[in-house]
Amino acid sequence: MEDCLFCKIIKGEIPSNKVFEDEFTFAFRDINPAAPTHILVIPKTHISGLNDLNNENINIMTKLTSTAREICDTEGIESEGYRWVINSGEDGGQTVFHLHLHILGGRNLKWPPG
Ligand code: 5GP
Ligand code: ZN
Repeated sequence: MEDCLFCKIIKGEIPSNKVFEDEFTFAFRDINPAAPTHILVIPKTHISGLNDLNNENINIMTKLTSTAREICDTEGIESEGYRWVINSGEDGGQTVFHLHLHILGGRNLKWPPG
């Protein structure tokens, strides 16, 4: 989508610290990390968030989680533990409306979130 920040990152129009890329997914480091490891995994197709998932595009979640699993391995956070987060809408704290899975790790994460 033309004026979407994360679509621009995928196209390289806005620079990012890329961690991984394949046919369906793209992953890069969060600009404002909330943990020592903070990576965003996004679909290459524009989906604005969880509410936009449907029977036609739901398979992208397998691609996202598969990429996220690989990254947790290569980042070396598997044994200590980590968290995956997808924020949705205002109450969920979503600020960028291109679906993204946060990978957080490298420190002891508190629960429940604020
Ligand atoms: P949300 O709050 O929508 O779940 O997450 C959006 C995330 O995108 C935030 O953690 C924020 O720091 C990150 N972010 C926003 N703009 C940029 C950017 O231009 N580059 C990168 N790498 N991350 C961004
Ligand atoms: Zn987008």
